[in-house]
Amino acid sequence: MIQTTNPYTNKVVKTFDELSDVQLEKKLAKAHKAFQSWRNTTIAERSALLLEVASLMRKRKAELAALITLEMGKLIAQSEAEVEMCASVYEYYAKNSSAFLKDRPIEIPDGKAFVRLSPIGIILAVEPWNYPYNQVARLAAPNVMAGNVVCLKHASNVPQCAAMIEKLFKDAGAPEGVFTNLYLSGKRIAKLAADPRIAGLSLTGSEAAGSSLAEAAGKNLKKSVLELGGSDAFIVLDDADVDLAVEKAFLGRFSNTGQACTSAKRIIVLQKVADEFLEKFRQKLIGLKVGDPMDKTTQIGPMVSEEALKNLDKQVKATVKAGARILVGGKRIKREGAFYEFTIITGITKEMPAYHEELFGPVASFYSVKDEAAAIALANDTGFGLGGAVFSKNKERAINVANQMDTGMIFINENLASRPDLPFGGTKRSGYGRELSALGIEEFVNKKLIRVA
Ligand code: NDP
Repeated sequence: MIQTTNPYTNKVVKTFDELSDVQLEKKLAKAHKAFQSWRNTTIAERSALLLEVASLMRKRKAELAALITLEMGKLIAQSEAEVEMCASVYEYYAKNSSAFLKDRPIEIPDGKAFVRLSPIGIILAVEPWNYPYNQVARLAAPNVMAGNVVCLKHASNVPQCAAMIEKLFKDAGAPEGVFTNLYLSGKRIAKLAADPRIAGLSLTGSEAAGSSLAEAAGKNLKKSVLELGGSDAFIVLDDADVDLAVEKAFLGRFSNTGQACTSAKRIIVLQKVADEFLEKFRQKLIGLKVGDPMDKTTQIGPMVSEEALKNLDKQVKATVKAGARILVGGKRIKREGAFYEFTIITGITKEMPAYHEELFGPVASFYSVKDEAAAIALANDTGFGLGGAVFSKNKERAINVANQMDTGMIFINENLASRPDLPFGGTKRSGYGRELSALGIEEFVNKKLIRVA
């Protein structure tokens, strides 16, 4: 079902119809037509469009943020921060793409050669609900700047955010077809991937969805980018500033109610400072105000949905049944809506679900380890490879640890956060390709060689 359900009340707010095949065909034809002219626009024209999108986002921040909170339950202050972040992504590409897309000369002894980054067509973006505007901006901004056009298949539970992004582009003056919202179920993506007008596919979401999209892209010999799940390690070395680490672990694990791919899901602390860290971390979770995510004083809002809560609770219960201990939380909050206690689990061992699986909600897995080598070994003992963090007063030591971690991103003395100017993406089962920064604009372009004799 493509519908808005408010997780604060679990009530259905609005339902939308999926596109019929005929409607879908019309939209694709318009997007394809738009590409034929958009590919010939100047960088200045594309920049002007994105700067206007960003400006409208900032002007309409309150309305846009309220829609995120309504559809997926994010605390309103965090929804506003998402809108700001998103505007900065559009601005970043508007300002920097002219440099990113410059011809790249190749020194050769006879004549001239250069590589030109040319647009390739319609990029299909399959996006998740957890940052409903920002996940889309990361794909749309670089591709619109590169001269591609974008069709969005958003998560079925954020249809109003999806429609809002299309409206922002329209209001900013985008020609019809440059950004198109498609109400479709995931099942129809494989068929769509075969359409010759679709030139590339990008998905942010679960491993199952990623694997299905990659299979369809591969079958049709199309480029894909996947940003999938993660079980990031947050390593605290014995010479770390413990108070800083606790502060950042709290933000890193519980922002967005723990529903971020790069959340600090596994907190790994060296024995020497483990007790101090754990006690201070536990204290952070006491007395938090539970309530309406639209209320700025609320500290614990709902998870995205009842279903997500039940999945998380099942993982926690199975982990506890296998012998782990709950230090704080560990169950749903008895009230209307999809509320789950902020939770810390300790005593996790290899055979428990929390060791191997991603916990996509407000649950921190805590590990105390004897030394640096054990921390690195534990951090790498996962199929995921998205991000991570290392805390130490000795930056060289922390960089050396980061060097041994098998992930796409590591932040030192900071919790991992996405920024327009830094590349974002993973390795192993967390996917491939990069979004944001100069790297993000290179994923869906034809790096065309032009040789002049
Ligand atoms: P899903 O993978 O179910 O949904 C993500 C998107 O994929 C939605 O638009 C969904 O559509 C679509 N989809 C689902 N199945 C298919 C399919 N077979 N083919 C094509 N598209 C499909 O993810 P969740 O809602 O469960 O989101 C949480 C997961 O996403 C977590 O594992 C999390 O780590 C990961 N994630 C990764 C991020 C990253 O940047 N690396 C960021 C955010 C989340 P529909 O809603 O219609 O099912």
